[in-house]
Amino acid sequence: MPEGDNIHRHATELQARLVGRTVTAFWARGVAYRRLVGERVKQVEARGKHLLVDVGPARVHVHLGMQGRLRVGPPGPLAASTGARASLAIATDGATALWWRAPKVEVLRAAFAHAHPALASLGPDLLAPDFDPAAAVRRARAQPPETAVGPLLLDQRVAAGLGNVYKSEVLFLERLDPFAPVSSIGDDVLARLYARAQQLMKQNLGPWSRTTTRDMTRGGPAPRGEARLHVYRRAGRPCRLCGTPIRVAPQGQPPRSTYWCPACQ
Ligand SMILES: [Zn+2]
Repeated sequence: MPEGDNIHRHATELQARLVGRTVTAFWARGVAYRRLVGERVKQVEARGKHLLVDVGPARVHVHLGMQGRLRVGPPGPLAASTGARASLAIATDGATALWWRAPKVEVLRAAFAHAHPALASLGPDLLAPDFDPAAAVRRARAQPPETAVGPLLLDQRVAAGLGNVYKSEVLFLERLDPFAPVSSIGDDVLARLYARAQQLMKQNLGPWSRTTTRDMTRGGPAPRGEARLHVYRRAGRPCRLCGTPIRVAPQGQPPRSTYWCPACQ
């Protein structure tokens, strides 16, 4: 499931392979944008789970949702049938990038993109070099006090980049009940929660499957399968710390599955 770490990884890859290149074909939502052919890819940027690609005068906004995928391949002619089926297709003289099943693709005018409501309301990006957990805490305090901490972590207006996997993992690592209202949690604990989220996501910018049970940046063999995570998708299995069966319940609107250990948290 794409979260901020994936999108930042995509931005790094696209930065290397698309930026400075000339567009040879451009399709968005089944429509060919001929006026963008011949333009250069100027910049690629991740903001939380949003990806922004600047092509000539346009800024392309992509959100992968839960199912979206990106594939980057060698340059070459792009078949119209492929361009028309992809959520977004940017072919250049350096590489071809194809997005599939992305629920949000918008071609904006770069000059007006800052006013986009979803982008304008985004909280600080957990993977930005200047991310400050205190800024996320201030935004968390602006939410209704009864907001449960599980859904709070998914609120991109508070901090951008966290998705459903990190939500459960971070709460387990900080021993917090996902159903606790934000009003019952002190500023120091909230700041620690966001700092932990930032640390985990940074540790997962490498070319491995998302792992929270160990720091893969230190090298060594990767844990396999469900051993990579503490609680996510481990309902009914024993907690790695205390042996209590992990539980799962829907939380928030729209409901998203939260996994937790009822003894440790
Ligand atoms: Zn436990």
